[in-house]
Amino acid sequence: MAQIQIKNVAKTFGAYQALHSIDLTIADQEFMVLLGASGCGKTTLLRIIAGLESATTGEVWIGERRVDHLPPRDRGIAMVFQNYAVFPHLTVFENIGFGLRMQKMPEAEVKRRVERTATLMHIEQLLKRYSGELSGGQRQRVAVARALAMEPDVILMDEPLSNLDALLRLEMRAELKGVLAESKTTAIYVTHDQVEAMSLADRISVMHQGHIVQSASPIEVYRNPAARFVASFIGNPPMNFLPATPAGGGTWTVAGEHFQGPKTDAAGLDFAIRPEDVTPSETGLPATVRLVEPLGAHLLVTFAVDGHPFRAVLDSERVIQPGERMRLAPQKGRIRWFHPETTQAVS
Ligand code: ATP
Repeated sequence: MAQIQIKNVAKTFGAYQALHSIDLTIADQEFMVLLGASGCGKTTLLRIIAGLESATTGEVWIGERRVDHLPPRDRGIAMVFQNYAVFPHLTVFENIGFGLRMQKMPEAEVKRRVERTATLMHIEQLLKRYSGELSGGQRQRVAVARALAMEPDVILMDEPLSNLDALLRLEMRAELKGVLAESKTTAIYVTHDQVEAMSLADRISVMHQGHIVQSASPIEVYRNPAARFVASFIGNPPMNFLPATPAGGGTWTVAGEHFQGPKTDAAGLDFAIRPEDVTPSETGLPATVRLVEPLGAHLLVTFAVDGHPFRAVLDSERVIQPGERMRLAPQKGRIRWFHPETTQAVS
């Protein structure tokens, strides 16, 4: 049972506060992705869990044990980094078995584990090859196999696929998910790539300036962002925002049109809608086409709505010209609202 609990963890580097009282529980066998822009603190949090960095305050628990005073090797974790340290002068077998031999594990057990994880990672035919002779993708598989061979309770990964080309990344991404589910390991995976996060995670924790802004399933984070930051960070292109003024009784005026929204006494709200959640219609937001970008399957159209930029992903069969005026109707149930000052979602 390797549930991970992070209790009130904060980290300062000199005067700089990299993490602000983080509370997070990761369930046994869960695949948790820490997602955020560069510098938001995700690597620092991962290193604190691993024991490579100490928290300024707070506690880290793995299963029933408090581990924040234990050295990394006693925490039952294995790590895979971006610059995977696979030893080029050792064979694939020796690389995967390296940690096990360090632990003086009997050779028969080393062999069993190396062969099992190599098969899992589809590199069993490479065991006798020197790692220096392998491609980037193969070396990355060795790094993951070496971590899994330790049979850790927890595996921590910091941008492990970022050195691979786009196609390999896609392939490894699909495999990693399957392999980790099969090995029943609790995983924490750091990335700044939202597509990677969406496709891998059971749950995503979106980080911003040392805080966790939202922890939820990928679809929840996408559909119901807890804050404006999440709404604009997730999704490509991101959500559109327009100012809304109250028209009474939970009705809001947006670009001269009325929409049903939250019943709050706020002086104004931000109306938000995803680019794929509007369709050209007889009624809806009045929009003037500024730019049309064909993306193959779709058209990405940038409009001006009441002087604000507004993007929509439309059917590529449509013929649309810059300067054209049309109305865009939001799909039912897809409008979100945010408080302009607190930036939090309002419902
Ligand atoms: P990236 O994706 O670029 O790795 P990140 O979200 O993982 O970013 P961290 O590496 O956790 O970010 O860094 C968080 C903040 O803490 C950054 O502003 C960074 O400059 C700072 N920081 C990290 N390590 C140290 C350190 N040893 N000394 C001083 N500041 C540090």
